[in-house]
Amino acid sequence: MHVLKFGGTSVGTTTNINSVISILQSYAKNSEVICVVSAVGGITDKLLNAGRLAQLGDESYNEGFEIIKTCHFQLFSELNPTTQNSLNTYLAEQLGQLKKLLDGIFLINELSPKTSDKLVSYGELLLSYIITETMQNRAIDVVRKNSQELIVTNSDFTKAEVNYEITNANIRNYFKAPKAITILPGFVSKSEDGEFTTLGRGGSDFTAAIIAAALEVNQLEIWTDVSGMFTANPKLVKQAFPIERLSYQEAMELSHFGAKVLYPPTVQPALNLNIPILIKNTLDPEANGTLITNHVNNGKNSVSGISNIDNIALLTLQGNGMVGIPGFSKRLFETLAQEKINIIFITQASSEHSICFGVSTNDALQSARAINKTFEYEISLKKLDALIVETGLSIVALVGDNMKNHQGISGKMFSSLGKNNINVRAIAQGASERNISAVIAEKDVKKALNALHESFFEEKTKQLNVFITGVGNVGERLILQINQQRKFLKDQLHINLRVIGISNSRKMYFDEDGINLTNWKTLLEKGQPATLEGFLHQIIVINKRNSIFIDITANQAVAEMYPAYLKQSIAVVACNKIAASSNFETYKTLKTLSRKYSVPYLFETNVGAGLPIIDTLNNLIASGDKITSIQAVLSGSLNFVFNNFNDSTKFHDVVKQAQAEGYTEPDPRIDLSGVDVARKILILARESGCEMNLEDIANKSFLTEANLNSDSVDDFYTTLINDEAHFQKLYQSAQSKNCQLKYVAEFNNGKASVGLKEIQLGHPFYNLEGKDNIVMFYTHRYPEQPMIIKGAGAGADVTASGLFADIIRVGSR
Ligand code: ADP
Ligand code: ASP
Ligand code: MG
Repeated sequence: MHVLKFGGTSVGTTTNINSVISILQSYAKNSEVICVVSAVGGITDKLLNAGRLAQLGDESYNEGFEIIKTCHFQLFSELNPTTQNSLNTYLAEQLGQLKKLLDGIFLINELSPKTSDKLVSYGELLLSYIITETMQNRAIDVVRKNSQELIVTNSDFTKAEVNYEITNANIRNYFKAPKAITILPGFVSKSEDGEFTTLGRGGSDFTAAIIAAALEVNQLEIWTDVSGMFTANPKLVKQAFPIERLSYQEAMELSHFGAKVLYPPTVQPALNLNIPILIKNTLDPEANGTLITNHVNNGKNSVSGISNIDNIALLTLQGNGMVGIPGFSKRLFETLAQEKINIIFITQASSEHSICFGVSTNDALQSARAINKTFEYEISLKKLDALIVETGLSIVALVGDNMKNHQGISGKMFSSLGKNNINVRAIAQGASERNISAVIAEKDVKKALNALHESFFEEKTKQLNVFITGVGNVGERLILQINQQRKFLKDQLHINLRVIGISNSRKMYFDEDGINLTNWKTLLEKGQPATLEGFLHQIIVINKRNSIFIDITANQAVAEMYPAYLKQSIAVVACNKIAASSNFETYKTLKTLSRKYSVPYLFETNVGAGLPIIDTLNNLIASGDKITSIQAVLSGSLNFVFNNFNDSTKFHDVVKQAQAEGYTEPDPRIDLSGVDVARKILILARESGCEMNLEDIANKSFLTEANLNSDSVDDFYTTLINDEAHFQKLYQSAQSKNCQLKYVAEFNNGKASVGLKEIQLGHPFYNLEGKDNIVMFYTHRYPEQPMIIKGAGAGADVTASGLFADIIRVGSR
């Protein structure tokens, strides 16, 4: 004998009902089949909604009714194209009664729990009829039995308790005579007084479990629209996958904590008799599904699944009057029991100064009223505060039999939540250590589930969500590189890198599933108007774990946004030098925020473009080395200028060429005055541990007064022509000593300087070509022979690859 239950999600359409019928037929070939069906997906809610509208005197309940009616008529006629006449009998009669019931609710403005149960019962009654009738019309040997005649309960309407003695006897009695296939409505029952009751929302699963247990069958099958119980709700976590096996306790914990695929009370009758529960997918019958048995999970995964319950209110009772005095919790929980309020979560601080518990938001007001009444006297004496109620919360829970054998699970759980800026309001861990739950804001649930899922189930792949602002030359190269490397990163480094948001100064564009990087320019044009706050706001709303903000502008206002990003635990990768080289306080604040929110602030490309200069410096220091001196050529543009300037060229022409080839800033004075190099050595000095500002850097310019005082770029070029003799003199002087001119930055014993130098033959700087940069670190470990880093220090491609390296650094932290 087989007991199968089909949920509303699997019986909502003609196609799905046809699948159900073929599954039933194939089972019926070799045994008796009992099939429990729920209502068409969504119909129970529609019935309740129509009832509520009628109760409120809102005539639109009639429209609600029409939708329900049409849905069932349509389903029936699609399934039975030749037998329209049957519509006149049972279906029409039932729907007529339903309409009368709604009219009655409308007239008396009342929807009691008793009437509500009567109302919602139509969903299951109608669908079980439609399926049975359809099968009979196809000459399949099938009967329908109304479960209201078998399942007897008390009168706790909307979630009645089963009287097992009578119910079991009824079921056994009815199924004594063998039947090929029996279809029964789930969820519905009757009280001992003959009133309609129901078993609670989602209760069709329970109907099937009650029947399976009464008949002591070998297996209970729950057929739904997903291939089993997943490691997390598959609608919220894309990477979730079906769990092959679960113990009864795990299944109970997961379903109790929100895995809706199984109604929690379903497990108990099966567990009592050791009946395995198999969860299967109607839409994919070949998939294995999840098998739930008494087998305790000793597998390698410490955590079996993660679940969540929304709509939680956290209530806190606190006050000095509670400390050390017994009986407070008894009175508190008695009050809630009397009000029939279900407590989902409890935690008490060991100081006994407060008890905190979670209930459904729908019960919050009633709980608060009742508790404040119970403790009215203590509250009036100020021994207790009035109950504190917080709403808009959710619970996320890790579940697994095997968690108790593994240390550090809660550490990993909370560090994963913390890293993603998810604030935990309360924590509870059952003594069985099968469940660790945390209360968080409802808006963070999706991010929390995904972050936890990544930590516990996808350790191998990490998702990085990138938001780029400033998609000019370098940005374009970066996007190209990301697009080319995505597959490699996934396969080799297990990093799933996605660009979720892009922006230039005019437009911004977002795609939560990752922007199509072959088409980003067109998409960006279609985007919304860009603002700096708007970009951040959207990133916060999208609320993705491992988010990285990338600044490829040279804009002060963008740099001023970094603190706001870091405070949201969004990593900052800056190509923009402004923040790291502005006043020391700003630099320090950013470093502090980065530590406080455990989120990286990286700016490798600020010095030497793609060369790993800052990273190397950080590694030297982290490993205990001390920097004594840094000597460097850090300006690709100045290097280009002095490599090309000689007695047969003109200084003016060489600078013009450098600008034309994109090696200088739009205003070449920023490069030629040495300010840009000063900023770079400043950043290196700071990263070496020195508290320094730009004004502290000695900058003896090789430019003339006239060059420096020019009012515009054009004016500057004119002064270069006028002062050609000055530049030729610099060249001649170097030539006469067999030297090369290099613009050098130095940091020695806490002092920094920048300036043009005559470099002797043989010095490592002497042969520096093109736009190359070079940095020499003299340290305690490299006292005589410095550590040298040398290579192209400018250009869109190398800068983009430096940014890329920072992104990977964020990913591998
Ligand atoms: P039915 O109508 O078959 O009873 P339900 O809607 O009650 O179906 O339950 C199935 C749904 O449960 C799935 O579609 C899925 O959205 C949700 N769900 C939540 N958590 C989980 C989980 N951990 N595993 C599988 N499904 C889950
Ligand atoms: N139809 C009922 C509900 O929506 C019972 C069920 O689906 O199991 O709650
Ligand atoms: Mg269900």
